[in-house]
Amino acid sequence: MADPGLLVASRNPRKLAELRRLLAVHAPEVRVLGLDDVPAYDEPVEDQPSFEGNALLKARAGVAATGLPTVADDSGLCVDALNGMPGVLSARWAGPPKSDRRNNELLLAQLEDVPDERRRAWFECAVVLCHPDGTEIVEHGRMFGRVIRELRGVGGFGYDVLFVPEEHDVDGRTSAELTAEQKDLISHRGRALRALAPQVAGVLSA
Ligand code: IMP
Repeated sequence: MADPGLLVASRNPRKLAELRRLLAVHAPEVRVLGLDDVPAYDEPVEDQPSFEGNALLKARAGVAATGLPTVADDSGLCVDALNGMPGVLSARWAGPPKSDRRNNELLLAQLEDVPDERRRAWFECAVVLCHPDGTEIVEHGRMFGRVIRELRGVGGFGYDVLFVPEEHDVDGRTSAELTAEQKDLISHRGRALRALAPQVAGVLSA
């Protein structure tokens, strides 16, 4: 059957690259298109209180605008000592315009007096496939770890420079100091997408 293509509704180039890489492993036959490969459309405001709600908004908008099956994710960093914040506000935690540098500076300042043993945090991701036939599939993934006191590493994006995943607590490497492949293996997005990818392949070949 002809491959209709799959839209991945993200404008973040690093996140898009992660999603493409993971889909290439788990559903290599699927032709993945980014938002730049389809005519521009009004993208929804991410105003939902949950990652799943925002991912659904983005994926449904992609289907409505393009008629293509669409994958979207929403993700963020949840910090225990901040009652789970920044959460769905992660991308714009320090206010507009979006800036990873200012977000990281603000988080460091907010956690300045928080002792090492209370700096636990986790990244969370909801990834959604919406199909024009009405099928909607949602998967979740988490990566637990802790927020350190200085920025380290040049890989990844967002809060990676401040986050040591618990799988790497022995050598203390942040997720910005991991290779892309090492991060995919343990990341919230990797876990969610590995759960979703076989279902994407199944839905597209049905
Ligand atoms: P989204 O693009 O609306 O999903 O916002 C995600 C925001 O959460 C990003 O801008 C980052 O600040 C943060 N975030 C999500 N996933 C990651 C990650 O893997 N590493 C670092 N920061 C992340």
